[in-house]
Amino acid sequence: MRDFKIAEPRTEDELAALLAETTETTALIAGGTDLIDELKSGVATAALIVDLSGVAGLAGIAGEKDGLRIGAMTRVADLAEDAGVARDYPSLKEAALSLATPQLRNAGTVGGNLCQRPRCWYYRDPEVVCRKKGGFNCFAYQGRNKYHCLFGGSGCFIVFPSDLAPALISLGAKATIGTAKGDKVVPLEEFYALPAVDVSRETVLAKGQFLKSVRVPAPKSGQKAAYVKLKERGTWDFALVSAAVAGVVEDGAFAEISIVMGGVAPVPWRLKKAEDVLRGNPVTEALIRQAADAALADATPMRENGYKADLLFAALKQAVMAVGA
Ligand SMILES: Cc1cc2nc3c(=O)[nH]c(=O)nc-3n(C[C@H](O)[C@H](O)[C@H](O)COP(=O)(O)OP(=O)(O)OC[C@H]3O[C@@H](n4cnc5c(N)ncnc54)[C@H](O)[C@@H]3O)c2cc1C
Repeated sequence: MRDFKIAEPRTEDELAALLAETTETTALIAGGTDLIDELKSGVATAALIVDLSGVAGLAGIAGEKDGLRIGAMTRVADLAEDAGVARDYPSLKEAALSLATPQLRNAGTVGGNLCQRPRCWYYRDPEVVCRKKGGFNCFAYQGRNKYHCLFGGSGCFIVFPSDLAPALISLGAKATIGTAKGDKVVPLEEFYALPAVDVSRETVLAKGQFLKSVRVPAPKSGQKAAYVKLKERGTWDFALVSAAVAGVVEDGAFAEISIVMGGVAPVPWRLKKAEDVLRGNPVTEALIRQAADAALADATPMRENGYKADLLFAALKQAVMAVGA
């Protein structure tokens, strides 16, 4: 590993001021389960590492009158074990429990999970200078693309690997971004940006900004939600495809529905066309097939990842049936 300095801010204001003022290449470290790998392999470099673990107020889950506030430094294990999360947001608990291993959930944080970098094997190879690292080519496009995206991949074909992000977005979560000029709140869906916007990063966080917390609105009356994760292995693994579905069912049909997929696009991928098919109609397997087909009309599979279209249908079916059947 290369030498670096460490800063240990104690308050959110100190952190925001430090990030705004520093001229050094900087990386934020939360639990370090992703960042340390990147630093060790040389995929990421930073002259200054800013440790978030001592910043007061960044960790913790708090019930508020209109929902739940989850601090960025909340450990994934604490999210998975929280009684309020289990009661009001079971799909979020499911997503947290599906993530990695108990050791990683004990060390990894919610903010780190939502801001983690992609697992693309070309990006993670320190010898490969792909578009994400300032090069001219995405090597997955004509190379090995079994784990890459079906949607949204212009010039870079990663998938966003987080389990928490699809579940949170389907529940209508918002992100609070800390900046030296004060907080900014955006829907979590808009926290992510496609490669066409900026191929070097996956979120809208600009220099000097950090994720402070996410807020999940109080569940609506009759709301149900599910998270289904399809993996290659029976043990810990990233999602090949995952489906987060939240909705309100009235008389056997969805009055409201939100569908967000993981593992299929460079950002958590909302299936608005599938939502339109499912809303207002009695839930049957044929209707879910129709909804998946409407979504898949926008897919551009590559040589090795066409199987993800079948997985999209399978994950969607399981999640929709769990919520709506
Ligand atoms: C073996 C293994 C298996 C894994 N399996 C899964 C899985 O199944 N599902 C899944 O979703 N993830 C998985 N992960 C990914 C990841 O390590 C965890 O999701 C973890 O939650 C990341 O949190 P962290 O606090 O350790 O992040 P860190 O490693 O500290 O940070 C990750 C990235 O986020 C940035 N960051 C951290 N906090 C903030 C913040 N508040 N504001 C702005 N940027 C921030 C860091 O700069 C860094 O770039 C796995 C990782 C490993 C090593």
